[in-house]
Amino acid sequence: MTANTGPPSFHLMAKPAGADCNLNCAYCFFLKKAALYPKGPPRMSDEVLESYLRQTIEAQQVPFVTIAWQGGEPTLMGLDFFRRSLEIEKEYLQPGITVERTLQTNGTLLDPEWCEFLRENNYLVGLSLDGPQDLHDTYRRDKAGKATFGRVLRAARLMQEHGVEFNILCTVNAANGSHPLRVYRFFRDELNAHFIQFIPIVERDNQSGNQEGDRVTGRSVRPPQWGRFLIEIFDEWVHRDVGETFVLNFDGPLANWMGSPSTCVYRPTCGQGMAIERNGDVYCCDHYVEPSYLLGNLMETPLVDLVASQKQFRFGQDKRDTLPQYCLKCPVLFACNGECPKNRLLKTPDGEPGLNYLCEGYKAFFGHVNEPMQMMAQLLRQGREAREVTALLERVRAAKGQQAFPARRNAPCPCGSGRKYKHCHGGN
Ligand code: SF4
Ligand code: SF4
Ligand code: SF4
Repeated sequence: MTANTGPPSFHLMAKPAGADCNLNCAYCFFLKKAALYPKGPPRMSDEVLESYLRQTIEAQQVPFVTIAWQGGEPTLMGLDFFRRSLEIEKEYLQPGITVERTLQTNGTLLDPEWCEFLRENNYLVGLSLDGPQDLHDTYRRDKAGKATFGRVLRAARLMQEHGVEFNILCTVNAANGSHPLRVYRFFRDELNAHFIQFIPIVERDNQSGNQEGDRVTGRSVRPPQWGRFLIEIFDEWVHRDVGETFVLNFDGPLANWMGSPSTCVYRPTCGQGMAIERNGDVYCCDHYVEPSYLLGNLMETPLVDLVASQKQFRFGQDKRDTLPQYCLKCPVLFACNGECPKNRLLKTPDGEPGLNYLCEGYKAFFGHVNEPMQMMAQLLRQGREAREVTALLERVRAAKGQQAFPARRNAPCPCGSGRKYKHCHGGN
């Protein structure tokens, strides 16, 4: 065994079914990855599964480990594959080590047996859903071109019935990007979702699915649209839902305002979230499953060596070291950090490459949220709750002679009285 010279902890996303999926979403970049392994095994073998789990568990130098399953569609592997993975985990987990299991899925294959399994074994499920029916079905269709909304909604209800913990992963694209509040309220009010992540679709217009070229497809969210999308939802969230609904796109930047960035896209450097393909090949990141970002195969080279390799280190540092001057002088650099390198396909106004396609949207968003973010960061530093920001903002509005933001009727009144809004300032 080699000495563990890797980072204390890292995250590896496993793709046991490779790019294979039962759906055919129009903007999917995973599907194009099938061309990478035309002759490889279609599924992860038991040998690779055992090696992946053993090495991932043994490599962590902290008392917790994350086992993450991603696609394509990982549920295509069938339940027995996941049962085997639990048996292998048990073999290698030392007492006192906490394991977090995650599964990213389109939900269409989930049934009561799956849900029981997921709940019993504390999986945190990420369910892909793009909003209400018409918006979801615009791009998320199956291989026969049929709409998928009904099947995904059924999966959400089934998971709720069985007590499975799940997050909503919503891609933001040209279609739903113009309907931020419809999308957000659907998740919050119709689905009763408490954890939501919005992922901007920036789809390169090429056949390879690699991060090449400077053109995006018409399905991609437009930069100002992305900014408005985040701003409109943030305004509703900060006045109504802080502490009740968790939106990663807001909690992530809040950590930057606190001075300790936690989400990879907003951190100055990246490189601790790799992806493993079904044959054991390990790549720098799930978004860089392409030949030049292959680190090696964990059946041939110990995983810790791949994680601690110079190539992976360089990949992570490049996020910061390749920022154009335009970003280095940007007033919201501390929050944005140039976002994800995969989206840096533009040139700056003075012609330097490496500007993020979403820059215009991020500048607008981070500028807009600066004041409430500062307030929340201050509250948290004082050991208070971020949700108190709502009352503080109401006082600011009142001082400016503006009307109170309409609150949810059952929520605590933003005036801070402790009573429900409907029994206080919302009563009429
Ligand atoms: S469900 Fe996910 S992997 Fe499958 S086609 Fe849609 S985006 Fe791609
Ligand atoms: S390339 Fe993007 S998604 Fe991958 S680790 Fe870096 S910031 Fe995160
Ligand atoms: S907002 Fe634009 S200029 Fe500023 S750091 Fe982000 S990408 Fe760079």
